[in-house]
Amino acid sequence: MNFTEELQQELDTLRTQGNLRRLPRLEHDGRYVTTPDGKRMLNLSSNDYLGLAADIELRREFLETLTPETFLPTSSSSRLLTGNFRVYDELEDELARLFGTEATLVFNCGYHANTGILPAVADARTLILADKLVHASLIDGIRLSAPARCIRYRHNDLAQLERLVDEHSGQYHRLIIVTESVFSMDGDRTDLRRLAALKRRYGNVLLYVDEAHAFGVFGPTGLGCAEEEGCIADIDFLVGTFGKACASAGAYVACSRTVRDYLVNRMRPFIFTTALPPVSVTWTLFVVRRLASMGDRRHHVLCLGELLRRRLYEQGYQSPSVSQIVPMIIGASTDTVLRAEALQRHGFYALPVRPPTVPEGTSRIRLSLTASLTEEEINSLPLEANNKILN
Ligand code: PMP
Repeated sequence: MNFTEELQQELDTLRTQGNLRRLPRLEHDGRYVTTPDGKRMLNLSSNDYLGLAADIELRREFLETLTPETFLPTSSSSRLLTGNFRVYDELEDELARLFGTEATLVFNCGYHANTGILPAVADARTLILADKLVHASLIDGIRLSAPARCIRYRHNDLAQLERLVDEHSGQYHRLIIVTESVFSMDGDRTDLRRLAALKRRYGNVLLYVDEAHAFGVFGPTGLGCAEEEGCIADIDFLVGTFGKACASAGAYVACSRTVRDYLVNRMRPFIFTTALPPVSVTWTLFVVRRLASMGDRRHHVLCLGELLRRRLYEQGYQSPSVSQIVPMIIGASTDTVLRAEALQRHGFYALPVRPPTVPEGTSRIRLSLTASLTEEEINSLPLEANNKILN
């Protein structure tokens, strides 16, 4: 078999398992997407949690602030060379002020943050303790952190984590606990206060928390679960992204001044990449400045999450979710694909999530709610578990 035939064989296997991925061709129109065959569906698969990406008024307001001179479509360079436009500093200063941390550092995306920070700070004397369900970007960051050792603890099993910390804290120079605050596929949360208390009991434990799905959505001013739980100061690497609730692109870490300076010197995905276009950073800053006043949107999307969970329970589904991410866990990939297709036929753009994104046997439809949806729309979702909707 030649190279192409070998690849084709693997793709054929993925297709038989129901795990073949294809890029969807979509036209976007606010809250709706349209497929090439002209089917227009309500988008239930977007991470636009506050509905800002679908908000034309907000975009109009932003565009009014721009002129051909201030619309800067590219940075043309790494931030360490000539790419560090002033708006980067403005965004970082604003974020540090909001979080009340010494410093923040902005990256091109969450994938860069998560694949760059851990390898920069971990060494052979480091033990990483990571939740079993952390995002692929964190797993890749852990892989790149070799020779640091890593142990994965059972999802959200903080008792197991406490035992592991107790057992290993004497043997390693440093331990780094890695978790998400709101988990991307289950929509559940971890207990940040308990993690903060655990950290405080040891002199050599650091906390790394990814708030990608919480930033903008949780916390009195939308800064995330750490704000809500009052433990921002306990988290050494507080990471979040702008591509979800903030309707933009990029990511940040809130940290100490020294950690920031160290990352600027040592973090490869920060150093060796062209900085985000300044216009994108300007838009992020525009949105970040308005986050505190978006409490109504936060409240609405979280209420929709509750409503959807109630409807799923009524249909006999268990859902670990406590957030705006509500998985409908089906099990087999092929069944999940059929259920997603059925929802699409009814006008709801819901997508199957399959291994390797989620563990084998837990394929699901990841319903991802936004503040632009209504209660009526959630109530009209056909969730019946029987085969009726497959027709
Ligand atoms: N962290 C988590 C928990 C995520 O779910 C994602 C992406 N979905 C990322 C990081 C990566 O962020 P970005 O899309 O900005 O690369």
